Amino acid sequence: MRVVLVGAPGSGKSTQGPALAAHLGVPYLATGDLLRQAAESGSSLGRRVAEVVERGELVPDDVVVAVLAAALGDDATGYVLDGFPRTVAQAEALDAGSTPLAPPDLVAHLDVDEAVLRRRLTRRAQAAERADDTDPEVVEKRLRVYREETRPLLDHYRRRGRLVVVGGDGPPDEVGRQLRAAVAGAAGRQLPPGGTGAPAH
Ligand code: AMP
Repeated sequence: MRVVLVGAPGSGKSTQGPALAAHLGVPYLATGDLLRQAAESGSSLGRRVAEVVERGELVPDDVVVAVLAAALGDDATGYVLDGFPRTVAQAEALDAGSTPLAPPDLVAHLDVDEAVLRRRLTRRAQAAERADDTDPEVVEKRLRVYREETRPLLDHYRRRGRLVVVGGDGPPDEVGRQLRAAVAGAAGRQLPPGGTGAPAH
């Protein structure tokens, strides 16, 4: 099963993603984590990645695809992706098979009210684990990049019948339960009993 998680910064992707991946028995791949690891490597590419991430801007597509490919290795059977695709152009590349990853079976939108997001991001800023969480201007930029560049993905996948929306305002256990139910429901629709894997009409 291949699942993409889409949600604003603070929507819970990095809490829900690893748990969902373990539940499905597939790798969890978070482009933000992979890019931060690349940034810490100290290579010249890593330094360029760090500058872009710390400004809250998007890293060039070829760099993101390269770190994803390296992390996926030979395991092409399934994934939970967190943070990719993040633009319609990245989604089109994924759907067209021009990345090393197969297209997703399902795109789950973790839908969180803006006021809840801001509360969570303020708490994260106090924990100060990430440079891009501590500067309020960078946090605003990331929210704006989400609204302008990433939200259009939702319509892209809704039109293709692959989108499920999961309310993400509640406690993590409850959100996780709803996410697993949504994935199971979508998997059931895509794979009729004894089915061929063809999407239901
Ligand atoms: P995240 O941990 O998902 O919030 O991502 C942190 C940062 O990594 C983002 O603000 C971007 O700078 C960069 N990033 C993560 N995923 C992507 C992507 N798919 N395309 C471009 N940049 C990305």
